[in-house]
Amino acid sequence: MFLDLKDKELFKKAGDYALEYAESALDRNVFPDEKALKNLLVFDEDLPFDSTDAVSIVDQLHRYGSPSTVSQIGGRYFGFVNGGVIPASLAVKWLTDFWDQNTPMYVTSPVMSKIESVVEKWLKQIFSLPDETVAGFVSGSSMAILCGLAAARFRILERQGWDVNKKGLSVSPPFRVVLGRHAHSTVTKGLALLGVGSDQLEYVDVDNQGRIIPESLPVLDTKTILILQAGHVSTGAFDPFDDIMPIAEEAGAWVHVDGAFGLWAAGSNKFNSLTNGMSRADSWSADGHKTLNTPYDSGIILCKDRDALVSALHAAGSYLIFGENRDGMLFTPEMSRRARAVEMWAALKFLGIKGLAELVEGLHDRAVQFAEEFKLQGFEVLNDVVFNQVLVSCKDDDQTKRVLELVQQSGECWCGNARWNDKYVIRVSVCSWATTEADVSRSVKAFVDAKNKVDTE
Ligand SMILES: *Cc1c(COP(=O)(O)O)cnc(C)c1O
Repeated sequence: MFLDLKDKELFKKAGDYALEYAESALDRNVFPDEKALKNLLVFDEDLPFDSTDAVSIVDQLHRYGSPSTVSQIGGRYFGFVNGGVIPASLAVKWLTDFWDQNTPMYVTSPVMSKIESVVEKWLKQIFSLPDETVAGFVSGSSMAILCGLAAARFRILERQGWDVNKKGLSVSPPFRVVLGRHAHSTVTKGLALLGVGSDQLEYVDVDNQGRIIPESLPVLDTKTILILQAGHVSTGAFDPFDDIMPIAEEAGAWVHVDGAFGLWAAGSNKFNSLTNGMSRADSWSADGHKTLNTPYDSGIILCKDRDALVSALHAAGSYLIFGENRDGMLFTPEMSRRARAVEMWAALKFLGIKGLAELVEGLHDRAVQFAEEFKLQGFEVLNDVVFNQVLVSCKDDDQTKRVLELVQQSGECWCGNARWNDKYVIRVSVCSWATTEADVSRSVKAFVDAKNKVDTE
């Protein structure tokens, strides 16, 4: 039997620890302190020969692991573009961990086949995508971008009479890749994995917010993959889809949209003007684990050209038989996969259309609050806060660097840095539903304290 009495105790204990962790998430340092980090040495053990008592394993992990986590669920973590986690979404993860489903096919998990179909339908509605669009549930945007670009590469070469799955790339007809100068690093990584080197890319100039300047686009054609961005990782800016899409359509180029966190702007009437025209693209990638606040390991590839996506990911053509029920692996590179779509399902069901809009708008409101309070306190804000990202700096690079160091050490909040127009800047990303107005003010105070300290150094 899987669960005897002892196992029940084990899971109860793990559950108690998890809740204890969550309850203290608001009090503790956002980044672990020195003592906690030093304690990580306890994990430096030789691989044991004998079995270890399961309860003591959980004990050790909680005692030494929990204090050394980065506290992201508390509302004062603003690094990278890392979302928090919606309780309903986390709770279903607990349940489905016990299910231990493998989700490549209907026959391996009928329930997940159903839930993936439902989430696919909901996502198409939220992002206003064409009916024929299919969704694959992958680990994150890095993988989703790779899938979208693989579909693009397959289709563009196929149009030239070249089956890349059979004939490979070494002597294939040429195809072009056009992208903004500020495309995310995971885009160039994905391209490299697909055999497109960085010297082969055609970069387009961007404006002072990092948006592609439509007039700077080269002449596009049917052999071109054009990569656009919904949500610039530093400024949060969106490429002007409305201006660019007609040009791309006219030329017959394949357009992929990297919308890791920004695609969700489509879920708010207040912000969906940023995504106008976006639905005319061919493929889109986004994360659940950023703006939507699902647990990690949640990305989506959406593609209008189902046959191109399936062919690209399975090195097999249309002869793949589509069953009546969804086989999720058709739309992902992996075969075995955990039941990750259930977390997106729960987050969307919990929020509803209204809650999703409120989530997106709330992140924006907090970002605007950050910008206003920063300016009042004599910091410089370097971007237009159109979404959830704020770039902030002090009087010079040295001061900005030192202030960030002190803020990070304070444990009050955590932000990372970026380079913007040859300047060292601090990047504040508001990406958790849990961030309150008080969290923002408290975090700005940490900045002010740091600046005062630097001024007296
Ligand atoms: C985070 C991000 C990615 C990469 O996504 P992962 O989920 O971390 O793989 C790609 N593009 C943009 C714009 C991002 O913000």
